[in-house]
Amino acid sequence: MDFPSKLIESAVEEVAKLPGIGKKTALRLVLHLLKRDEEQTQRLAETLQAMRTNVTYCRKCHNLSDEELCSICANRKRDASLICVVEDIRDVLAIENTAQFKGLYHVLGGIISPVEGIGPSDLHIDSLVERLRSDESEQVREVILALSPTMEGDTTAFYLQKKLRPFKVKISTIARGVPIGGDLEYADEVTLGRSILSRIAYE
Ligand code: ZN
Repeated sequence: MDFPSKLIESAVEEVAKLPGIGKKTALRLVLHLLKRDEEQTQRLAETLQAMRTNVTYCRKCHNLSDEELCSICANRKRDASLICVVEDIRDVLAIENTAQFKGLYHVLGGIISPVEGIGPSDLHIDSLVERLRSDESEQVREVILALSPTMEGDTTAFYLQKKLRPFKVKISTIARGVPIGGDLEYADEVTLGRSILSRIAYE
């Protein structure tokens, strides 16, 4: 593509680096931004910049957060006796959407996958163990493993179960209404909500 403006050309190049956006779509978006009020485009740029600079990870559960503690961990109305362990932040969003779970989370940041070279030390497993170890008032009663029903999910669940066994907590998994090989994110809300409620003891 030949651009009449170097500025437009570099804007198109930057936008086209986003996933799922080709050069044509990038050009359409850039021309759209050019047509809108300058103020609106400014606000978009500032919002993205502020988001990128300020969003951080919760020091307790590793969920995305604007503060040191995420809004879920900081909410005293949540049931601190339950910790739901998930692979990533999209799973937190999927489970929150069901409005069926009132406990807290622990985001692993991935899943054990020997094929991809991801081992336990690459995940937030130590901090989960630490959460239980420092739980002196034994507030946590149950850890729910809400991992994908895949081989990697099962491997991770098995590893976690071994790590958590020394603590006096019940370990459960979500009932498998979730389609085999399907990710939590894609399970429909009703199924996912029901499976969180009707969880089963891990064996
Ligand atoms: Zn948190």
